Amino acid sequence: MIFSIDVEDWSQSVLNRSNPVTRRVYDNTLILLDILEEHNHKATFFVLGNVARKFPQLIRSISDAGHEVASHGYAHQSIYNLTPKQVREDIDTSVGLLEDASGEKVIGFRAPNFSIREYLFEWYCEALAANGLKYDSSLFPMKVIKYGIEKEYSLKIFNKYSLNEHYLSYVKIGKYKLPFFGGGYFRLSPYAMTKMLTKNLDKRRAVFYMHPYEIDCSELEFVQKTYGKIPAKWRLTQFVGRNSVEKKLHRLMNDFEFTSFRQEYYSEDSISVPQSTLSNVDAFIKDSSPEDSDVAARILQSTT
Ligand SMILES: [Zn+2]
Repeated sequence: MIFSIDVEDWSQSVLNRSNPVTRRVYDNTLILLDILEEHNHKATFFVLGNVARKFPQLIRSISDAGHEVASHGYAHQSIYNLTPKQVREDIDTSVGLLEDASGEKVIGFRAPNFSIREYLFEWYCEALAANGLKYDSSLFPMKVIKYGIEKEYSLKIFNKYSLNEHYLSYVKIGKYKLPFFGGGYFRLSPYAMTKMLTKNLDKRRAVFYMHPYEIDCSELEFVQKTYGKIPAKWRLTQFVGRNSVEKKLHRLMNDFEFTSFRQEYYSEDSISVPQSTLSNVDAFIKDSSPEDSDVAARILQSTT
């Protein structure tokens, strides 16, 4: 399975794009590096360019530990809010900073907020290919307003630019397909449920995702002291459950094997890469009502 971490600083990437990147992202990422080392797993770190600019030594620590450094854009701007020229600049800048800091070629990208839509594919893929990237991991093949559209994506344009797509894993509950394998779902679900669903995933293709801030239990206090009270919706969807994440990560890493995209698909001894990879599970969860899945979908929309 792939373990992926979107390295960004919450008060900058979510609260307000013009806030400074704080040291919290540095400290939290070091904790995740320690956890990965303890279990001897590798991961792909999709890092923001602004984090690489402020903490280049962090990027070097990630690559020195044998993990993959990939790009998450520069300042967490959604792709659909930028012009083609701005997207190109954003990707160029972040890839340049990450390659300088890591000393390695970057080959992967994840769009901030999974903000890719089919009408953006042409110039998005063009910008990725121009930077020599080989894959993207930004799409959910599912109906969730913020994350995608309910249909099979045509990956013809990805093919034209020799790019692979690694979809995030999902579980189908009722009418919703939910990316349960990481983020807010992992934080808010009991570990037993994550484990039960994970057992049914295709182990090679499954993609776990999270953020360093999800283990940061004192960030809410810091943010409210620095920027004032934040809306209740965000307190609930972004901060609840953080105190359970480290413990759950240890259990997850004991129960399953993880690696990076580079190691699984792009190292010299990897077998050939399919153009797109998807791991999903159709589950029926006892006692889950349509209302439950509506609530879950709403949580998802505000957890990126
Ligand atoms: Zn992000």
